[in-house]
Amino acid sequence: MSDNLSLGWEEWVGLPGLALPAIKAKVDTGARTSALHAVAVEPFGTEKNPQVRFIMHPDPADPSIEVICSAKVIDRRNVTSSNGTAELRYVIASDIHVGGRSWPIEISLTNRETMGYRMLLGRSALTEGVSVVPGESFQQPLLDYAAYKKRRTKKTTTKRPLRIGILTQAPNNYSNRRMIEAAEARGHVVDCIHTSRCYMSINAHKPEVHYDGKALPRYDAVIPRVGSSMTFYGMAVVRQFEAMGVYCLNKAGPIGQSRDKLLAHQVLAAHRLGMPTTAFAKSSHDTKGILDLVGGAPVVVKLLESTQGKGVVLADTRKAASALVDAFRGLNAHFLVQEFVKEAGGSDLRCFVVGGKVVGAMMRTAQAGEFRSNVHQGGTVKKVRLTKEERRTAIKAARILKLNVAGVDILRSDTGPKILEVNSSPGLQGIEDATDKDIAGAIIEYIETSVPNILRASAARA
Ligand code: ADP
Ligand code: MG
Repeated sequence: MSDNLSLGWEEWVGLPGLALPAIKAKVDTGARTSALHAVAVEPFGTEKNPQVRFIMHPDPADPSIEVICSAKVIDRRNVTSSNGTAELRYVIASDIHVGGRSWPIEISLTNRETMGYRMLLGRSALTEGVSVVPGESFQQPLLDYAAYKKRRTKKTTTKRPLRIGILTQAPNNYSNRRMIEAAEARGHVVDCIHTSRCYMSINAHKPEVHYDGKALPRYDAVIPRVGSSMTFYGMAVVRQFEAMGVYCLNKAGPIGQSRDKLLAHQVLAAHRLGMPTTAFAKSSHDTKGILDLVGGAPVVVKLLESTQGKGVVLADTRKAASALVDAFRGLNAHFLVQEFVKEAGGSDLRCFVVGGKVVGAMMRTAQAGEFRSNVHQGGTVKKVRLTKEERRTAIKAARILKLNVAGVDILRSDTGPKILEVNSSPGLQGIEDATDKDIAGAIIEYIETSVPNILRASAARA
């Protein structure tokens, strides 16, 4: 049996499961249920898996420290407070930590803004061997609100249930189903939000995203899965979530930058990343000059809006190349002309980067008689081992474009890795099939380590 523990009428306690390392609590055996200060209390989850999210200000003297908490709801209970008013409260369970001992207690959530103590420890929280000396205070070691100023490390990451929103037009596709599965397996709750059905009021005071007639709740994290046809509106929705202070896995700016092949090429080139020699054009009449810039035929001509290989053509001869460039010009389309990297042999590498690490890589190979390796063009995938240089290139490209999740496509050339494009919503099916890796799990784990638990209102103001 563990040692006896005596508590004074006020005591410093911790609730580590809620990322609350230090709270000054009033111990009151006159009360049955323990209570914790909570504002912005929002239930989420399902009937079978009810959760609640709330904000706690642990330091009564510094309301700028806001801790976001979430926990499973174990009950809803009518609790009568000391001033006699009854209130239906959410009840959660958490381990309490005091004087070197931990034990589970039940806690009701209520607004204690006007009370002297952010937590009340009632008699139901007193476990075997824990007694109260009513005349004394602080029988156990003192703690400090400085605990909320420490930088979070991977080790101190609290695993709380997160409320995650996936912005997508296709909730049932493989990638979304896998991310939902991975998130739910870790106790999180996921909503799919149709990007095009979001609408927003733009104001500085209280930015919100509306959906099907009401404002969306506070999400801990938003995963943007913005398809190329949704780029413009999707970016606006992501920006709105950012304005609300929601953690967005990829931000709007970087999504737009990587989607714009022209811009992405210019940014990557400025950082000296390897790329096929590329020329851009719209209506230049100097076809010869454009072809000379990239070293003459064979060349690859690409429509700027191309995806899935649909607007990518190989011109073997100078004559064919000139005809193509003239034709594209006639269409008044934006296009780029690129050196054909023959030695890639119809294969390219898809490097899946999450949080600055390559979590999986595959080689896509074109079918016979085709140079485009896109799966939509009949390409096949297999697992591949990247060289150090390829790995570095992929990580650097994602970092430069400020993408936390990115699919970096690379050609293997005689002069080292050459980046083709960087995708901000890379699909999971091909890469998970080819590598047998839990890429969805890697994404969710990255979110767990990135979502802030402690918000500093003052920092946001600064
Ligand atoms: P999309 O956005 O339509 O997928 P890409 O630029 O990725 O367009 O090109 C499609 C495919 O064509 C690539 O995956 C690659 O296999 C092949 N390809 C593209 N550019 C080149 C090039 N310069 N040299 C060799 N192969 C290329
Ligand atoms: Mg491609």
